[in-house]
Amino acid sequence: MIIAIDGPSGAGKSTVATAVARRLGFHCLDTGAMYRSIAWKAIQQGADLADEAAVGAIAQTFDIAFEHEEGDPRPSRVLIGGDDVTAAIRTAEIDRSVSVVSAHPSVRAALVEQQRRIAEGGDYVIEGRDIGTVVCPNAEVKVFLTATNEARARRRVAQNAERGVGSVDFEEVLADIIRRDELDSSRATAPLVQADDAVLVDSSDKTINEVIDAICAMADA
Ligand code: C5P
Repeated sequence: MIIAIDGPSGAGKSTVATAVARRLGFHCLDTGAMYRSIAWKAIQQGADLADEAAVGAIAQTFDIAFEHEEGDPRPSRVLIGGDDVTAAIRTAEIDRSVSVVSAHPSVRAALVEQQRRIAEGGDYVIEGRDIGTVVCPNAEVKVFLTATNEARARRRVAQNAERGVGSVDFEEVLADIIRRDELDSSRATAPLVQADDAVLVDSSDKTINEVIDAICAMADA
């Protein structure tokens, strides 16, 4: 079974996806971490991020791997081409760069292929922007998780503080998520849109547990 959770940054996708996966005994796939890893590799190689051919070649060359502790759906390490980028992909620099990278059709094609290969045949909660529309259009459960800009910025600040990486300045984080939403929603290839058959869940005035319960109920039905 595939549970697709799409939505803008800071809506709580990672927390919710991990908790749902833990409760149902599913694996979890964070596709945003994959786009972030490509952005990291492109910067490390000194590529021009706007150069689709250069960044697309990186996405086609390097496999992204997730390492898990036994029984934990959240990966303990994210690797690209053998480099551990678990913390490096959460910096403000990557926040600023990733949407340019993810807008390139060749990058998306390479990562969608990797994502389908990873999830093939398993029970997965997959979080991203285009899971219900492009990666797994036949997912059994599709959720579009959203929240107000302020609620999302507050959550992202708390998450960055907990991880000890990325900006904890509310205004900076708010500006970044608004800018990223615009880029992610307006790109030509696989823009951030709710799939026709996805259930809209607004987490602004819900506790994380209410959201988790609602999604697990959809999976049970
Ligand atoms: O989810 P997260 O904020 O880590 O995603 C980082 C960026 O990766 C997004 O802003 C978006 O540009 C890109 N992304 C995407 N498609 C996905 C997942 C993430 O374009 N399925």
